Amino acid sequence: MIIFQKVSEIQNFVLQKKKQGYRIGFIPTMGALHEGHLSLISRSKAENGLTVASIFINPTQFNDKKDFEKYPRMVELDVQKLESVECDILFLPSVEEMYENKLLDSELIDIGYLDSILEGDKRPGHYKGVITIVEKLFKAVHPDNVYMGLKDYQQVKVVEKLVRDKKIKIKIIGCDTYREANGLAMSSRNMRLTEQGRVLAGCIYSALSYIKSQKNQYSPKEVLHKTIEKYLNIPEITVEYLELRNAYDLSEVPMNLWEEDIRYVALFAGKLEDVRLIDNLEL
Ligand code: AMP
Repeated sequence: MIIFQKVSEIQNFVLQKKKQGYRIGFIPTMGALHEGHLSLISRSKAENGLTVASIFINPTQFNDKKDFEKYPRMVELDVQKLESVECDILFLPSVEEMYENKLLDSELIDIGYLDSILEGDKRPGHYKGVITIVEKLFKAVHPDNVYMGLKDYQQVKVVEKLVRDKKIKIKIIGCDTYREANGLAMSSRNMRLTEQGRVLAGCIYSALSYIKSQKNQYSPKEVLHKTIEKYLNIPEITVEYLELRNAYDLSEVPMNLWEEDIRYVALFAGKLEDVRLIDNLEL
């Protein structure tokens, strides 16, 4: 695996490869890699001639400074993991490289509705930080296909909007969530949970699965209520939101009945042992 730290170097390399006919698959990450990240690399390897991963803990997308400071950092181990799945390129820039070089900030798109709901509402400024860095990374890496986890469902929608609004010729591919045996969605933040916390956190997936199983049995409102009572009403968990949305655009759905022509997604955010966890399930 080749590691690049400079924008100009990776740009030159990738553009050369594109001239030779290579299709470029790209997986942006913040490191502390787990099986979920590696599944995205494997998918890209299967669908592209060259696979690039990036590791960059983007300060501008953390609305909570403590969360940024506590974010796990373990680059050497990450490099070993990337090599084990034969990732071709790692882009590992510094903060200065991404924010102070000639890769100028382009005009931000209006994230609009997506910035005012769920994660956008709970983490002000988060998506502005995300699209800023994602656009810079796209300009550095020139990917054809970008693989993103549906675990960050709203993030995929926001990046799709960026690509659509700016007419960027990149395909965004949303990939299924990798889970622990108890259903807990893999996340770099899980490292901060105790063993007991990780076991308890399995209730999030149980809750989402219960919603799926109860769809059409009771009204959406009743299902959400029952789910909280049955799975999430424990002192260790603080629920920030548990919502049903239209999976197409995350718009609100009626709470009194299930509409046949709506594809639903249930989304959860909450805290356990002071670690913020999110998850979702399409119904
Ligand atoms: P992160 O390092 O958390 O920024 O994640 C980098 C990419 O990996 C994002 O597109 C995430 O949605 C994706 N990802 C994170 N966790 C998982 C998971 N458990 N399964 C699949 N993809 C994931």
